[in-house]
Amino acid sequence: MTADSQGFATRAIHAGQPADPTTGAVVTPIYATSTYLQDAVGQMRNGYEYSRTKNPTRRALEECLAALEEGRHGFAFASGLAAEDTLLRAVCSPGDHVVIPDDAYGGTFRLFDKVASRWGLSHTPARISDVAAVRAAMTPETKLVWVETPTNPLLGIADIAALAQVAHSAGALLVVDNTFASPYLQQPLLLGADVVVHSTTKYLGGHSDVVGGAVIVNDDGLAGELAFHSNSIGAVSGPFDAWLTLRGAKTLAVRMERHSDNAERIVEWLSQREEISDILYPGLGTHPGHDIAAKQMSRFGGMVSFRMRAGERAAVDVCNSTRLFTLGESLGGVESLIEHPGRMTHASTAGSALEVPGDLVRLSVGIEDIEDLVADLAQAFDG
Ligand SMILES: *Cc1c(COP(=O)(O)O)cnc(C)c1O
Repeated sequence: MTADSQGFATRAIHAGQPADPTTGAVVTPIYATSTYLQDAVGQMRNGYEYSRTKNPTRRALEECLAALEEGRHGFAFASGLAAEDTLLRAVCSPGDHVVIPDDAYGGTFRLFDKVASRWGLSHTPARISDVAAVRAAMTPETKLVWVETPTNPLLGIADIAALAQVAHSAGALLVVDNTFASPYLQQPLLLGADVVVHSTTKYLGGHSDVVGGAVIVNDDGLAGELAFHSNSIGAVSGPFDAWLTLRGAKTLAVRMERHSDNAERIVEWLSQREEISDILYPGLGTHPGHDIAAKQMSRFGGMVSFRMRAGERAAVDVCNSTRLFTLGESLGGVESLIEHPGRMTHASTAGSALEVPGDLVRLSVGIEDIEDLVADLAQAFDG
């Protein structure tokens, strides 16, 4: 029985996770060890030598994530940003250029703007929902076209297949940050992307109890570079973090269905509220990226943003008034969260091309009972 012949939910529970060969333990153990016995000098058992290089718990997670993304090679890191940083060092050199989304995740923007730029990597923000704008932002030095879809926090949609062609025709690679959709809703490698990046802190971990990141690729040469840089830089996932993420990933399929159900019901409710000028959700027929989202995603996920007609004060008031929706950064956990991107997750974009509107509220819709979530929003709006 090979992983490729199995369905998604089966792979989430079993890929990379056979019963432990030593004891038969059904759940992959937390291999809390830095080093491994060698039977003779240089003769390792099963290829394990030192845990920065390779660790069985992390390996299980990496194989599982690769199987979920339909990729051949997975790498697990200490955070999503550690994954991104290692990827940049593995692929780019000083003088290279990257196209990034004009509403990229704030931390990703900061990595390009404040860190990578000092090492000679330049970037241009582009509206990634507009294929022509991405093409226009490319230069002869462009090494990567980097997209998120849906984007954070404006829920913009990028056409992965079209952008893969644009990138490839100029000799660049397409990187997709698949954090918002998760591999359950969207598998970018199957659409032509070269690299998938995740903050596994979000939907993959799914319980707001661990920070982690991942990179998944098909190309063997690229995988070799990633393995070398992962080991050389050392920003890898620890075994306990890898174990928590693996445990979360097992239920991804059922969670994403429920996140999507609840988000759809909340969008329905929001669309009847006078106080709101705009709802940003790719599942809405009126969303400019709806047709592409419907083509490349199986459902539309649990992230919903909306804009308050009365402006920033009203947006902040709603964020301060919910009781069940927890006011907090991050997303993708079982519990519902609410936040004000302009003053919280995206404060670092203030004054830049990536600045987000002050009247914007972002919801990470959790998997609680929908009636309770709607009642909470109602009391927050009505006071
Ligand atoms: C959170 C997030 C990241 C960064 O991941 P960390 O695990 O916080 O380092 C990157 N991209 C997106 C879309 C995110 O939401």
